[in-house]
Amino acid sequence: MPLVVQKFGGSSVATAERIMNAAGKAIRAQQAGNQVIVVVSARGDTTDELIELAKQICAHPPAREMDMLLSTGEQISIALLAMAIQTLGNKAISFTGAQVGIVTDSSHTKARIKSISTERLRAALDAGNIVIVAGFQGIDEAGNITTLGRGGSDTTAVALAAVMKQGSGVRSQESGVRGQESGKDDSSLTPDSCLLTPVSCDIYTDVDGIFTTDPRLVADARKLDVVSYDEMLELASVGANVVSSRSIEFARKFGVPLQKRSSFSEIEGTWIVPEADWMSEVVACGAAMVKDEARVAVINVPDQPGVSHQIFAAIANKNIAVDMIVQNVGTSGKASIGFTVPAGELEATLSVLEPVVLKLGGRVSSEEDVSKVSIVGTGMRTHTGVAQRMFAALAEVSVNMKMITTGDIKISVLVDKADGVKALRAVHQAFGLEKPRPGAGIPIAARAVATDAKPQAAEQDLLAQLASMEDIVVSDVVLDTQQGRITIANLPDLPGNCSRVFQAVAAAGIVVDMIVGNPSEPGRAQTSFSVPIQDIQRALEATQAVLKTIDAKASAAADPNIARLIVSGIGMRTHTGVARRMFGALAERGINIAMINTSEIRVSVVVDRPRGQEALEALKATFNLT
Ligand code: ADP
Ligand code: ASP
Ligand code: MG
Repeated sequence: MPLVVQKFGGSSVATAERIMNAAGKAIRAQQAGNQVIVVVSARGDTTDELIELAKQICAHPPAREMDMLLSTGEQISIALLAMAIQTLGNKAISFTGAQVGIVTDSSHTKARIKSISTERLRAALDAGNIVIVAGFQGIDEAGNITTLGRGGSDTTAVALAAVMKQGSGVRSQESGVRGQESGKDDSSLTPDSCLLTPVSCDIYTDVDGIFTTDPRLVADARKLDVVSYDEMLELASVGANVVSSRSIEFARKFGVPLQKRSSFSEIEGTWIVPEADWMSEVVACGAAMVKDEARVAVINVPDQPGVSHQIFAAIANKNIAVDMIVQNVGTSGKASIGFTVPAGELEATLSVLEPVVLKLGGRVSSEEDVSKVSIVGTGMRTHTGVAQRMFAALAEVSVNMKMITTGDIKISVLVDKADGVKALRAVHQAFGLEKPRPGAGIPIAARAVATDAKPQAAEQDLLAQLASMEDIVVSDVVLDTQQGRITIANLPDLPGNCSRVFQAVAAAGIVVDMIVGNPSEPGRAQTSFSVPIQDIQRALEATQAVLKTIDAKASAAADPNIARLIVSGIGMRTHTGVARRMFGALAERGINIAMINTSEIRVSVVVDRPRGQEALEALKATFNLT
């Protein structure tokens, strides 16, 4: 029998009436011939209120007790929803995360799922129940309650869909069979005998679907019919908190079709599906903002191999995901590294960072009240001049860019918090996001894709992956020696300057790939970008010509001798271990990193060309790729 996982967010279970409405949706799905699992969040703003309450008791609540507290919100919702379904005359049973065997690691408040057992779920479903599971929570191996991080109920929903898809159970390479803990002989369970159950996952919320940007901030934001897993991964990681990044990661990894839709209507929502050709016809599918970011600058550390590794390993050990990493080209043996973290993590970041940087002879500075504005779209892979269009839109409304990074399907800039919404609106308009994307409006075709969404990996691999559900997936490392780098120093840090430079380079018909930009000293910025090696001289000339018209002190230099390594996968940024392992592998071999770009699906680093091949081998070995 097909299985539907429905997830109701906080707003969808905020009142008794809404809980009855959710109960009705679950019952209708069961009556349509499905088994139904419902995952619920805490009601309304319960989680925020509980956090606030804890803060009134102590400034830094212990993480274990925080999880004990926060998990209660979801427990209230599951009991009420089970009662609602029973009141309407149907069978329902509620379970906490621990009761259904969602086992996580022990990083309280941001735990990662290690395994899920399906036995109890299956028994309850087979007995005709609608099964209601508390989102956002699990239990560690020592029996402590854990939570999965804000927005974690989406993760629970998709993870349940992923495990339930795997038929009767899953063979784990290290630990035997999951989902068949009843002591049965596992020798009969080969991958072939694990028939896949058709599953889908509907994530209900208070809006009609995923919009081109937050409709509360930009009035002409438009609902998308379809978005690809990769686009949604990037959008979510740059601030579109409509679906949690980790849930999309699961959906892509395990081939679960996802639909984000309204709990207050029956209209079709937004499908999140594998990439299709028509998606790249336009440059961008959405824009997003992270309002509360903080910028950290590590200044005057030795420009030597291993330095980035020491810095980022210290932060990754605290499970803090850094973004927009920018390494300025070193001068006189010293380098500066800039990056951003969520504002709420600044204190923790500084406390681990300061001792490390002090030992390296450098210093740390930081800035709050900055926001990150990003644009995302599959079309960026094939269209040129995208960054330039974004920079021009920001220059037009006099917004200064404090940092820039590009990925293959996203560009992010850091701006003053006061300019955030203005910047988001300008960018949304510049890319015509209020207009339907050509090819959209074909939800039927998209649905067809969604229903046969194939997992990215072969089935056997999937079984192994489920054994360590949230382990990182690094799928490829590529060496690119066809690029050179232009570095601009001393560019006056004013709105419009960057835009003028990239306009000049675009006018010369040169395709710019990786861009990183960072303030170097007060009032001045350093920006580096890569161009095809055959264009490097022309790019240099075009840049120098335009710099002359901007400021006498600004200068540009070309370095044809670079190699770029591109590591692709899923969850490359949010899994803090990826950057750590990458930098560690390069540091171990004494390879210096000159430029870094991070995104959810790709991390690129630039090294000296003569070390390129060796760096490639080091990274392949680190991620077990042959
Ligand atoms: P819940 O989990 O409580 O159901 P969500 O996490 O789904 O809530 O968040 C829904 C809210 O996210 C919407 O009310 C909307 O204002 C906001 N939002 C932000 N960015 C977007 C976007 N790109 N598309 C749709 N909604 C967005
Ligand atoms: N209740 C949790 C939160 O507010 C989890 C969720 O809603 O997904 O973050
Ligand atoms: Mg949510």
